Amino acid sequence: MRQSLQAVRGMMDILPDEVEKWRFIEERARNLFRRFGYREIRTPLLEATELFARSIGEATDIVEKEMYTFYDAKGRSISLRPEATASIIRAFIQHQLHTTGDRKFFLLGPMFRHERPQKGRYRQFHQIDVEAFGIQDPMLDAELMFMARSFLDEIGVKEVSLEVNTLGCSVCRPGFRTVLQDYLNANVDHLCPDCVRRIPKNPLRCFDCKVPQCKEALAEAPLLINFLCQKCLSHFESVKSYLEQLSVPYVVNPRMVRGLDYYVRTAFEIVTTHLGAQNAVGGGGRYDGLMKDLGGPDLPGIGFALGIERIMLLMSGYQPSRENDVDVYLVLLGDSARRKGFQIAQELRKKGLSVEMDYDPKSVKSQMRSADRVGATVSVIIGDNELEQSIAQVRFMKEGIQRIYELSDMAAELVDIIKGAK
Ligand code: ATP
Ligand code: MG
Repeated sequence: MRQSLQAVRGMMDILPDEVEKWRFIEERARNLFRRFGYREIRTPLLEATELFARSIGEATDIVEKEMYTFYDAKGRSISLRPEATASIIRAFIQHQLHTTGDRKFFLLGPMFRHERPQKGRYRQFHQIDVEAFGIQDPMLDAELMFMARSFLDEIGVKEVSLEVNTLGCSVCRPGFRTVLQDYLNANVDHLCPDCVRRIPKNPLRCFDCKVPQCKEALAEAPLLINFLCQKCLSHFESVKSYLEQLSVPYVVNPRMVRGLDYYVRTAFEIVTTHLGAQNAVGGGGRYDGLMKDLGGPDLPGIGFALGIERIMLLMSGYQPSRENDVDVYLVLLGDSARRKGFQIAQELRKKGLSVEMDYDPKSVKSQMRSADRVGATVSVIIGDNELEQSIAQVRFMKEGIQRIYELSDMAAELVDIIKGAK
């Protein structure tokens, strides 16, 4: 026997029963972000590989080993987007959006990373991504974190905590890098091969290593937070004070570095203890300088991304509000009635009702069973007799009442009754 086809490993179907929950999350996000002045943007799933290499960084896990990259027919290197920030910046630059006054954006959609699939970690997953350009003030940093928290609160994700750190800037980070490299070189015997490799290129990433031995080796490592320049220090202090003003609970985690190269100053993560190794629900930070590096205007930027699948694993108390999907079920007996019913179905749908019927000829009994099964509000029964008199029997399913309607005004009456009851 032939083996049946399966979805690609790490990529999941979202079946109709779950789609409602997805839409709930997406609609809440759209609604909340709008109140904060963000507008939705959608970018292609494919981009030139170079965009990600230049923004996320060559020496990051994402670019080194997680991207779906291939060559198109013209030999250009193309990648499925692993995150959204770079694409949004690319679109902003390409369409010169700085001339339009638009500066706050959000994007909902799938991202792709070739990782080992496990609970909360997939190869196609979905992010809610938020980005704001051109605003330097730490007030925005705090407001973004407040907005992310508010969103999670609104959809019933509890038991998460906000970790905040600062990653310095081009003034203070290079000095710290050297100090850290010295420390790592002195402890090189205790580091995993990955971390040893990171020392020259990306020493900060060692803080992110999950190997216990490395964690131990870094326990005494110098921390960037103690090497900040005056501007970074005062930015960080302001962010914290605005968070306090908005009563956003947070903890400072001076070891959090985030997996992308472009961050400066504020970095944050929303973490949980409920998802095992996948403890990050979302994260973000500031990336002043990235827009300019990618050939655009020199505008600061800040953003965050939340993983929808991980959010869903943490949502409690969500009650699917499964609306009554079918308003009218047509029960049709005989060829002429079926033909007439076929037309009535389209008329009712045009008037806004949802209508279902058995396309294949079936017995009345079996059609009534179908009407029951889909939870139709009414069933409309038409046979040859009814057709001759231009009438229909309308059965109100829940009430068990049956009434006769003239076909000529049935549509209008059904709309009144069904929409009136909603
Ligand atoms: P992790 O450390 O778990 O790999 P990350 O730092 O790579 O996360 P980000 O790049 O910050 O993740 O992406 C933001 C969010 O997107 C994450 O917090 C997570 O919720 C989600 N996410 C990232 N990678 C995956 C994945 N492979 N599957 C499902 N969700 C993911
Ligand atoms: Mg990752």
